[in-house]
Formats: sequence, C-alpha cells, structure tokens
Amino acid sequence: MSDATAIRVRDLVKTYALSDGEERMALENVDLDVAHGEFVCLLGPSGCGKTTLLNLLSGLDRADGGTIDIRGRAGSAKPVLSYMFQDSRLLPWMSVADNVRFVLDGRNREKHDADVAYWLERVGLAGRGGDYPRQLSIGQQQRVAVARALIIRPDVLFMDEPFSALDELTASRMREELLLLWEDLDASVVFVTHNPLEATFLADRIVVMSPGPGRIVEDIRVADHVPRPRDPDDPKVWEASRVAVRALGSRDGAASDAGEGT
Ligand code: ADP
Ligand code: MG
Repeated sequence: MSDATAIRVRDLVKTYALSDGEERMALENVDLDVAHGEFVCLLGPSGCGKTTLLNLLSGLDRADGGTIDIRGRAGSAKPVLSYMFQDSRLLPWMSVADNVRFVLDGRNREKHDADVAYWLERVGLAGRGGDYPRQLSIGQQQRVAVARALIIRPDVLFMDEPFSALDELTASRMREELLLLWEDLDASVVFVTHNPLEATFLADRIVVMSPGPGRIVEDIRVADHVPRPRDPDDPKVWEASRVAVRALGSRDGAASDAGEGT
C-alpha cells in the first residue's frame, strides 16, 4: 500500500443472515482506494450497500471476505476515524457543549473548553454550547454532529447521507461549509449519498455502486472537470452530475435519468 493511500479495500464481501436461514448478499467483491486528503462520494441507489460498506470501513461491522487497510496521515496503522450519520445521534440529556466534549479524553474535560468553543464557532453555533439538543433545529443538531466528528481531528471522516434530512437550502449551505472545513482538515472523507448533484459538488471522485448486491461500477474523477473552489450554481457542476446520473441509470435501467424521457 503506497504512502499516499489512506484506505485500500480488496474483494470485500458482506452477506447478512436472514431469520429464515437464507442469506442476503449486500456487497460483492468491492475494491476501493482512497488517497490521503481525498474527498470520495459513494453514490448508489437505496439498498445498494452504501451503509454496509461504511459500517465495514469504520469497523462497526465485520466483512465476510476481503481486506480493509486504513492508514493515518503519519502512516500510522491506527488511524483516527469519525462517523457521521443521517441523524445527529446527540445525547438528549447533555448540553451541546457536553455532546461535543463527550468524544474527548474523559479526564480533565474542562481543559477542552477552548477547543469545544472553537469547534462550535466553526460550525456556526458560537454561544449555543449551553443549549440542549431539543432546543436546536435539525440542521443545527447536525452542525453539532459535525463539530463532534471534527474535534478529534480524524484522519478519515465517514459520512452517511448526513444532509439528506435537511431542507435543500440548509443542506446546500452545509455542503459549502463542509468543503471549507475539509480544506483545513487534511482528512480523507468518504461521503455516502444517493444524490448525484450533491456528490458532484462535493467530491474529488465519485464511486458509483450498482443496485444490490453492491459492486463498484464506475469511478468518476470530478476534480478533472470541476475546479475548486466550486459554486453550486456553476453549470459545470450540473453537467458533470449528468455523467453520474447516467452511470447510475445505465446499471439499474430505472428512471433515474428522469427528465430525459427514459
Ligand atoms: P444503502 O445504505 O445503500 O441504502 P444498506 O447497506 O443499508 O444499503 O443495505 C444493503 C442491503 O442489505 C439491502 O438489501 C438491505 O436490506 C440489506 N441489509 C442491511 N442491513 C441488514 C441487516 N442487518 N440484515 C439483513 N439485511 C440487511
Ligand atoms: Mg444507507
């Protein structure tokens, strides 16, 4: 595995055992490489195995075959990983600040006050540390989840459709903010989405998955076509997203190419 590689996946297979004794293959021989600092979007239809793949990469679940190697930036084999979900998964009985602090070293939590305040400010929640999650909007709760994911300065950040429950205006703003944070972070990001436009706006590379059992069917180098910094209204983003839409549509034959009369 080269020094530039953060994640290397080979021949990954995942099968779920069903209650009737049958098995469901969720991932079939997935190969994937992610470079240090790279922003990769996993794009695929619902049920194709995106969450399964993230769960395996992050160690939340075990594969039935294949290998996963993840390296930290300094080449360490014990990389720091963060995971963000579609919902914020904040602890309702803890303040916003304590939810962020929670992931840090348990001793001397007070010494982290400045860091917690810094990250709340970075996600646009300066002064809201004393609030409780229920006092925040869904978008603000997701901002807290971003702060919690980043305060440990991960080598790799896994994100599973983190903005899909938000209204489009909020989601769009948060995508732009995420890119600004990522530029400062020097972290690799693996971001799951079923939204080709979102993937195109965010990614260096879009890895397109087939309907289940998930396989990787296309690897689109967005960075070659759409320079950064990006403007979501740039027609280049929309044009490049059509490539991703076609990659999706050609595999499942479904109406994902809506608007072109398929
Ligand atoms: P995606 O995130 O792309 O929507 P998932 O990874 O959640 O897809 O699921 C992939 C496939 O595996 C789907 O067919 C889903 O029903 C199945 N699956 C996911 N988790 C389980 C589980 N715990 N037990 C059985 N089947 C599962
Ligand atoms: Mg999913």
